[in-house]
Amino acid sequence: MSQMPPSTPPVVSTIAAIREIVVRAKAAGRRVGLVPTMGALHAGHLSLVEASRRECGLTVVTIFVNPTQFGPHEDFAKYPRTLEADLEKLAGMGVEAVFAPTSQQMYPEGFSTYVDPPEVARPWEGVARPGHFRGVTTVVLKLFNAAPADAAYFGHKDYQQSAVIRRMVEDFNVPIEIRVMPTVREPDGLAMSSRNVYLSLDERRRALSLFQSLKLAEQLVGQGERDAALIRRRMCQTLEAGGVDSIDYATIVDPENLAELNRIEGPAIALIAARAGKTRLIDNLLLTASEEA
Ligand code: AMP
Repeated sequence: MSQMPPSTPPVVSTIAAIREIVVRAKAAGRRVGLVPTMGALHAGHLSLVEASRRECGLTVVTIFVNPTQFGPHEDFAKYPRTLEADLEKLAGMGVEAVFAPTSQQMYPEGFSTYVDPPEVARPWEGVARPGHFRGVTTVVLKLFNAAPADAAYFGHKDYQQSAVIRRMVEDFNVPIEIRVMPTVREPDGLAMSSRNVYLSLDERRRALSLFQSLKLAEQLVGQGERDAALIRRRMCQTLEAGGVDSIDYATIVDPENLAELNRIEGPAIALIAARAGKTRLIDNLLLTASEEA
């Protein structure tokens, strides 16, 4: 006898409906976890769902390609939208509901209030993508209000984004715990990303140099190198040799304020944004300078 496939989670498209689900669960004493995404789900997103399932009694996933975080020349129109396939991937994972609002629901006529992002949003992505974090913080705050969960799950992959959101939550006293989970990678090391579907086979091969460059930084720090400028140069060389088409930045920063470091004396983040073909990819790795090295 064939088994019934697990059923897909129900989709909720109004703010009123998702709020009711969350508020009721909390009133019943359940810890609620929220996983905000733009869909085109992959194993990275699913790891956030699993973390929420482990730590919470009820998990809500949001799928919304947020127009306000894309620049005018970015990929908003062609960003992959795969709701049916996403629901299939979530089937059997124990997700209570998927909140998939329309743009109209999130930004009705007359909408005009935006978050002014914190200082940590200024460098790196803030320079390369003006207005991006204004859109991100605004939509995330709206999602936190629509679905007032106890915890929200984000990926280390978008490191600066997680730092920006942690700061916003602290500055605005938002009663939600921010959980940042490890980056999920392909077997060869490429960080999973919804944008990887844009890559041709050759670009996919060249995109691997982001990870190689991060691993080189890790290796150099492991060997005792403390000169961040030297490591940055080696990271750029690796990216160029690996065939990326352009580098927005390849740097070593303080994990808290994302200021560029001259010397590595404690924890540091190696941070990269580069293009393979037209596809812009970001990745990062936590580096730890051990005492004895
Ligand atoms: P996105 O749909 O790209 O906006 O991502 C939604 C969430 O998934 C964000 O918190 C991302 O940081 C996280 N995420 C994206 N890619 C990965 C990955 N490879 N591993 C872990 N988390 C990820």
